[in-house]
Amino acid sequence: MLVALTGSAISPFSPFDMWEGRPLAAFLTRRFFNDDPLGFYRFYREVLLKETQPTPIHRALAQSGALIITENIDGLHRKAGSPTIELFGNVDELYCPDCQSRYPSYLVLEGLPLCSACYQLLNPGLVLEGDPVPMFKVASCLMARAREVLIIGSTLDMAPMSYLPILARSFGARITVFTHSLTQVLTYLADLKGEPQPSPTSSEVKV
Ligand SMILES: [Zn+2]
Repeated sequence: MLVALTGSAISPFSPFDMWEGRPLAAFLTRRFFNDDPLGFYRFYREVLLKETQPTPIHRALAQSGALIITENIDGLHRKAGSPTIELFGNVDELYCPDCQSRYPSYLVLEGLPLCSACYQLLNPGLVLEGDPVPMFKVASCLMARAREVLIIGSTLDMAPMSYLPILARSFGARITVFTHSLTQVLTYLADLKGEPQPSPTSSEVKV
């Protein structure tokens, strides 16, 4: 099984982006959501709610058939058609903490989003800092079945993502790391499928 572990270098949301003078990570916390839901959803509207499309990297990975395990919250691997485990959730959905109903995230445009069934404040479909990471267990189990693991656009400096390639290696997987040139990713995937190599100029995504 081919598995790709992907991170922020192929996402429109960079951990180095700033909002109101502070990095985005400072706002993606359970404490901020609980203490100031109005402020949290203003941040959500102004920063997280934006129209994004899969890049050539997302589409090439989907065509390769790789299972994706991603740190990214943009939902772009799913939009490209890949089977995807989003370790930290995504910005496409909100959910009711009481009845678990799911809602599209554009509801935040109307103000504080509430569940239409039980009037609870909806939560973002994100794993915030301070939350458990429920999909990590599934991702860990899949590492035992991976024969080839590609690391794309992630510096693996964030737990628990950083544990996954170590697990895969312990089960004998081959690990290939791409952190600088994403053109290399496209070339590598094309080689795997025996396709002509893509043009670096037309498909390169800067990191
Ligand atoms: Zn509800």
